[in-house]
Amino acid sequence: MSTVEATQIRSYGHFIGGRSVPPSENIIERVSPADGRVVATFTAGTRADAALAVAVAREAFDEGEWPHWTAMDRARALLRCAGLMRENEERLARIDAEESGKPITLARGDVGASIELFEYAAALAMTMHGEAHTALGDDCTAMVVREPAGVVGMIIPWNFPLLLLAQKLPFALGAGCTAVVKPSEFTSGTAVELARLLTEAGVPDGVVNVVTGAGAEVGAPLAESSLIDILSFTGSTETGKRIVEASAGSVKRLSMELGGKAASVVFDDADLDDALDGVLFGVFFNQGECCVSGARLLVQDSIADAFLARLVEAAGRITVGGPLDDASELGPMIDAGHLEKVLGHIDAARRDGATVLTGGGRLGGENWRSGHFVAPTILDGVAEESAAFQEEIFGPVLTVTRFSDVDHAIRLANATEYGLAGSIWTKNIDKALRVAREMRSGRVWVNTTIDGAPQLPAGGMKQSGFGREMGQAGFDEFTDVKTIQIRTGPRKRVFPNWTGGN
Ligand code: NAD
Repeated sequence: MSTVEATQIRSYGHFIGGRSVPPSENIIERVSPADGRVVATFTAGTRADAALAVAVAREAFDEGEWPHWTAMDRARALLRCAGLMRENEERLARIDAEESGKPITLARGDVGASIELFEYAAALAMTMHGEAHTALGDDCTAMVVREPAGVVGMIIPWNFPLLLLAQKLPFALGAGCTAVVKPSEFTSGTAVELARLLTEAGVPDGVVNVVTGAGAEVGAPLAESSLIDILSFTGSTETGKRIVEASAGSVKRLSMELGGKAASVVFDDADLDDALDGVLFGVFFNQGECCVSGARLLVQDSIADAFLARLVEAAGRITVGGPLDDASELGPMIDAGHLEKVLGHIDAARRDGATVLTGGGRLGGENWRSGHFVAPTILDGVAEESAAFQEEIFGPVLTVTRFSDVDHAIRLANATEYGLAGSIWTKNIDKALRVAREMRSGRVWVNTTIDGAPQLPAGGMKQSGFGREMGQAGFDEFTDVKTIQIRTGPRKRVFPNWTGGN
């Protein structure tokens, strides 16, 4: 496919009660992180806007028809939406690419995966059911029913604007919930577009609402609100902790998809060609702005030098470029502040004794005049105690630490506060399974990385959060379990002297 043209500036307001609200005078300008051009504007929402959206979603749940639609009807609406997303695939990809800076080829992948999530959630919606207990005695029949859990607040980060929303929204809708979505203030376009498509697909007004704006203004009120039943958050561990505190007064259910510091563990008996490709993809995919990024390479001593030489050579072949260029494989950092943070981490690692094998700074020169581009960077000799090993850098930066044997590899893999994902590269099944079982991590990949399917749940352990998205577990998060127990025949008295009888 050829390089796509830049689109004109899009101007988004909130989407509340089935309608696009005209943009307010108070706007957030989104500039492209690749060239500083304004690509979109979003309404800078207020607490009052958030309160309105919550009230509308509450009414749509308490008084509206959506929770009472049959499973089949809800599933059909999700499938219609998937069809509309397919018709708009290129446009949605372009919006995400322009606003986030990610390469358009990756944005197309995000849209494709989002469509599949809608299709899979539709299948789960169709088969939503509970259980019946018939072996509790002849006079007892019990049902464990699953009901929609209510109003769901969804707070989304900027690194996969559409995809991370698609990991929540169709599952919640399929279960019969209503939603208030708070996208990132950097990348709100596709959330509003998706709400419009859902309305076009026949989802009733008020079921899906989007409020744009800053976290403190429109995100925090969702965490505090007692009209919201579940708050499903994806973002940094730091913000996640603030949300847990803010939600305490309203005792709502939380789902926290937080930061990560995944290890790629390469043993000397791996298929080293595959491992090379996997390690590179694991860390440089989405310019490292990925929660499951394989940011730490743990490599066995015996192969380390030769493996690193190949890795450095291959990293030099990565094409860094603007988001709308089809040839682009690695885009800019999301904004100037994040660029500084990533560069600061690299400098700190140098001071802590790491050796820069390649990259190590901002890309300069004429082609990169106003973009926030960081060169693909590999840091060798990164000590376990150092910040580069421990903290999420969220950029195209690979740290390298060597290990001697399986026990050492497991210890290093688990030596951060995070527990989101990890990959293992070996052809020895015993070793692979042992490490997989001992990794304290919500997802483990063996001889693959940053992989997945709508059927497979994702989520964190330790400071990476709790709750699961996707799969049956991800659907169940948006349901309440209710037990209905029925006794038939004469009631057996516990204290017969109270009312007589047996
Ligand atoms: P962030 O925590 O800064 O922001 C996430 C969202 O929270 C944004 O919409 C933001 O506006 C909102 N927010 C900020 N302050 C808030 C507050 N006080 N109350 C309510 N909402 C508030 O994260 P980010 O920089 O957008 O995204 C990057 C982070 O997200 C990384 O740490 C990454 O690991 C994490 N992430 C996790 C997953 C996962 O599945 N575990 C997926 C993607 C990203």
